[in-house]
Amino acid sequence: MAAVTAPDVDILVIGAGQAGLSAGYHLQRLGLRPEQDFLIVDHAPGPGGAWQFRWPSLTLTTVNGVHDLPGMAFTEVLRPGSDQAPAATAVPEYYARYEQRFDLRVHRPTTVRVVCDRATPTTCPTESVDGLLHAETVPGTPGSSGSATTNGSGERRTGRIDVPGAASGAAESVSTTGYSDDSSGKRLTGRIDVPGAASGAAESVSTAGYSDNSAEQTHRTPGRPAEYDTATDDSDATRARHATMASTEHRVLELSDSATIFDPPATLRVRGLINATGTWEKPFVPYYPDAGTFAGRQLHAHDYRNAEEFAGRHVVVVGAGISAVQLLDEISRVTTTTWTSRTEPRWRTDEFSRDAGRRAVAMVEDRVRRGLPPRSVVSVTGLPVTDRIRAARARGVMDWHPMFSRIEPDGVRWADGTPQPADVILWATGFRSALDHLAPLRLRGPGGGITMTGRLATQVAADPRIHLLGYGPSASTIGANRAGRAAAVELTEHLGLRRV
Ligand SMILES: Cc1cc2nc3c(=O)[nH]c(=O)nc-3n(C[C@H](O)[C@H](O)[C@H](O)COP(=O)(O)OP(=O)(O)OC[C@H]3O[C@@H](n4cnc5c(N)ncnc54)[C@H](O)[C@@H]3O)c2cc1C
Repeated sequence: MAAVTAPDVDILVIGAGQAGLSAGYHLQRLGLRPEQDFLIVDHAPGPGGAWQFRWPSLTLTTVNGVHDLPGMAFTEVLRPGSDQAPAATAVPEYYARYEQRFDLRVHRPTTVRVVCDRATPTTCPTESVDGLLHAETVPGTPGSSGSATTNGSGERRTGRIDVPGAASGAAESVSTTGYSDDSSGKRLTGRIDVPGAASGAAESVSTAGYSDNSAEQTHRTPGRPAEYDTATDDSDATRARHATMASTEHRVLELSDSATIFDPPATLRVRGLINATGTWEKPFVPYYPDAGTFAGRQLHAHDYRNAEEFAGRHVVVVGAGISAVQLLDEISRVTTTTWTSRTEPRWRTDEFSRDAGRRAVAMVEDRVRRGLPPRSVVSVTGLPVTDRIRAARARGVMDWHPMFSRIEPDGVRWADGTPQPADVILWATGFRSALDHLAPLRLRGPGGGITMTGRLATQVAADPRIHLLGYGPSASTIGANRAGRAAAVELTEHLGLRRV
């Protein structure tokens, strides 16, 4: 047994999205101090987690619902009439204020390139024989292709991403760190162009509709389906707050440069890890051997900016999740489209009740407890039929086709041999967990997933020092909140760190 030496900090939280911030809040409530007992790092340039990269047309009206972070309501930073505000600015502003109010001292941009706990010389630059987890950090946002950039300019860049194989959907995809956590181990031959300013889509977000009895609320604006309406935005208190906000300047706050207070070493030695790195940086594109022959443009929803850039071109939208139908609706307003996916879209016919939400989350939780890769929750809950969807149906654009059998230079070919000419293939095929930096820890089991345990299935069964947030059942803003609390409580207990 290796001797345990003093860590640089007890707990490292990787990622400052909803999950990482929730974890930070709860660690603090348990008596741990930021930068002394725990450290939050994030490699995005600003606050907001993945929200800062969402496409501009995703507004507070069209999101599923953004649940309040613990201890501070979203409505505190919302101006009146901000329903149409892009999520990419409104949510980052909320997170910025949150970080400031709770003095969470997020270090950014700092990338955790790899985490090791044993001597694995080929992947780990240091030998961690001291019983601690070693996190190799580098300043900045990774420049590798496939990672998000925040210039917000919408400029195209010519980078390409490698897409691993396994059309089964079980494989992880783009590596942003140089390490791969790909359970399949396959690399593919096809490539797709990646535009610069990031944005995206996930089919694994539908747990957002799930609410509980917690005091926090989900931001909802008029027109959203009732299932997301757990907030009481129209209360007198909220109206009064809005009135106050109207007279204050609305801007993303500049946070102090906490790196001047605490400068983390390149190798951080920690006793416990809360990984909250989300899914945004792992857009998933299923493997089609002939994808590389396509002469048009292929992109993932991650890189979608606006519909106008497709005007005059025929777009094949692939996917059966919420993002696919939203983007299909948008793009079909400016050009012709074809909609297809491997599995037939499942429309929800009933109201999305709290119980239905619980059941959906429970099914995903059950999978990760059994070591299976998490599955999209929308496959369990079905797609909500919103007014926009009804209108799109009336326009005749929700005309779904079973998946094409081939990709050819000029388009795709259906199973019956009919060609479908196309200029663009938009893959709205979801995301996987961004866990490449944990690959040396060899957390994946034979089932392709990581066996999880703990109260909310955030704890890695094989290594109780490690909690994964946003993995499986916690891949929503409400799930991330709860997972942050559970991880903070269980990890501090495990490490004997409880101070209050
Ligand atoms: C298009 C889209 C719409 C969605 N809409 C909703 C919705 O309406 N409601 C809802 O509840 N959920 C929604 N989701 C899901 C949503 O992403 C989650 O609910 C939640 O915001 C994710 O929070 P997170 O903290 O787990 O991850 P993220 O917000 O992705 O944060 C992860 C953070 O980790 C950082 N990071 C990653 N890797 C590293 C590394 N190696 N080193 C350092 N930092 C790293 C990133 O910079 C990022 O800031 C949506 C997802 C998508 C893709």
